[in-house]
Amino acid sequence: MNFASLDLAPELQQAIDACGYKKMTPIQQQAIVIARRGRDVLASAQTGTGKTAAFAVPILQQILDKPKTTAPGMPRVVILTPTRELAEQLATNIAGYAQFTDISVLALYGGVKLGGQASKLKAGVDIVISTPGRLLEHMTLKNVGLAKVEFVVLDEADRMLDMGFIADVRQMLAQITSAHQTLLFSATISPTVNELAHKLLKNHQEIRA
Ligand code: AMP
Repeated sequence: MNFASLDLAPELQQAIDACGYKKMTPIQQQAIVIARRGRDVLASAQTGTGKTAAFAVPILQQILDKPKTTAPGMPRVVILTPTRELAEQLATNIAGYAQFTDISVLALYGGVKLGGQASKLKAGVDIVISTPGRLLEHMTLKNVGLAKVEFVVLDEADRMLDMGFIADVRQMLAQITSAHQTLLFSATISPTVNELAHKLLKNHQEIRA
């Protein structure tokens, strides 16, 4: 199945063309159609399967479908991922998919000063991609709030569980008071990932690719 059959917003299709993608990968074929309708998703997918576009494309499309409402320090999308390297890689790829839109993307991670990240957050960012610890720090400092979040992605949920981040993740997600869609991606769907999915997802569809 080609991306062209999805009838995406022209600026999103243009970015996919610029990336050189034609056919969807198996995870994309399943996830994009379901997630675009607003349904929660639990997906098992390894890195390298095209999972970033599988969650980013349906989110970008839904943002483009609605009026722009970015407020200072109030992102519309929060993507949590276990490491700095993954946060940077996701941000680069998602900025590529959003390159012909006015949707802004920011990666946050520890090991760098908070101040520069804080001023970018306060200026207003649509999509925040962060490691759990650094996002919690910014929330505690009131640099960012999650009350207006519309989309949540947990990337590599099994690794975040293994690294002991889950209490932080659940504490942060509890701050979201708006209706939101949650997409949970994990290389393996272990019993603990399943338990987390049942706590965080509503009427979700499960995808294995
Ligand atoms: P990911 O699993 O999201 O890290 O993607 C792995 C690699 O596959 C990245 O280099 C992407 O740019 C590339 N990729 C993702 N989707 C497609 C696609 N449909 N066709 C060709 N390459 C893709």
